[in-house]
Amino acid sequence: MKPSPNSSLDALRRELHALPELSGAEAGTAACLREVLLPCEPVRLLDGLAGHGLAAVFEAADETAGLTVALRAELDALPIQEISNHPHASRREGVGHLCGHDGHMTALVGVAMARRERPLKRGRLVLLFQPAEETGLGARGVCEDPRWVDLSVDHCYAIHNLPGYPLGQVLVRNGVFTAGSVGLIIRLQGRTAHAAYPEQGLSPGLAMSRLVPGLVSLPAHLEVEERLCLVTVVHARLGDVAFGTSPGQAEIMCTLRADSETGLSDLRRAATELARAEADRDGLTCELEWVEEFPVTENDDLAVAVTERAAQRVNLTVDEPRESPFRWSEDFGWLTRETCGALVGLGSGVDQPVLHAPDFDYPDVLTPLAVNLYEGILAELGLVPPP
Ligand SMILES: [Zn+2]
Ligand SMILES: [Zn+2]
Repeated sequence: MKPSPNSSLDALRRELHALPELSGAEAGTAACLREVLLPCEPVRLLDGLAGHGLAAVFEAADETAGLTVALRAELDALPIQEISNHPHASRREGVGHLCGHDGHMTALVGVAMARRERPLKRGRLVLLFQPAEETGLGARGVCEDPRWVDLSVDHCYAIHNLPGYPLGQVLVRNGVFTAGSVGLIIRLQGRTAHAAYPEQGLSPGLAMSRLVPGLVSLPAHLEVEERLCLVTVVHARLGDVAFGTSPGQAEIMCTLRADSETGLSDLRRAATELARAEADRDGLTCELEWVEEFPVTENDDLAVAVTERAAQRVNLTVDEPRESPFRWSEDFGWLTRETCGALVGLGSGVDQPVLHAPDFDYPDVLTPLAVNLYEGILAELGLVPPP
């Protein structure tokens, strides 16, 4: 994967698409980006952020005047087999760029390339290529890196393509943009026995059969009226495939989702209490593990206003998303917790397959629009002249 620095952005996007890498394993993607970013002459290129993350830093001659603005793209692909016939389809079995992160990276490279023609007149620009978005670990890890903290970013923005909306339509909203979510693994431990004498063991089967609907109906018992509050059971397993054995263990996995941090912590508490109560009822031991934690992504009013003005500047229409907030999660919320920022939707076409669909392919026509929107944001914040 070695596109020359002069190859077009579309060619870069297709190279990235053809060689997708999973969360935490984006070494090749990072190496490719490094090669295209270095000729853009950032003053610094930080690497190894939260794994394979990169940050290209550009500064005006007097960087002390003006804001430090971060723009973010994601490096990772998904553990889903791509189904498509185009020449740049994934060459890696079972892994696909089906969320458009290949396009998001390409747009940021476009912003880096634009610095040759339009160097910063004030402030500092940080282009963050963040790893492991899909597992919720990347942005959090970046925020914990002292080199990131030292940059003391004033504003941060990330564009995510949104299928189902007109191509190039900008979608923003003040406040909560995407829900918070967390994965829960419940492990129930009893005792195995011969299937002919189940009474000599302790099967977690009944507790499991109560827990699956119990977890799903938890939101109905919390006072959340019309707020987003949802439990989805994603996996359950009882014992092993062994017809001579009465099972001794069970595992239930579910995802908890809410549109506020308090809603999410109420749901966590309720799920914990339910799991413990059902395990106790049958004398089972119960172990809980929390995974893939995504905070609520909350947009700052100021960053939304900047985005709206930037969109007008570059002739893109702005609308509010139909879903309020989006039920899916984004780990960009770790960044907006600390910094004034906005996660911005950019319509990728009404007929575009949904995110994570096996036939999803980021439309290349979106790249120049995303680059323009980012340039508009930088102009609004005084870093570059108006595009
Ligand atoms: Zn995704
Ligand atoms: Zn995504």
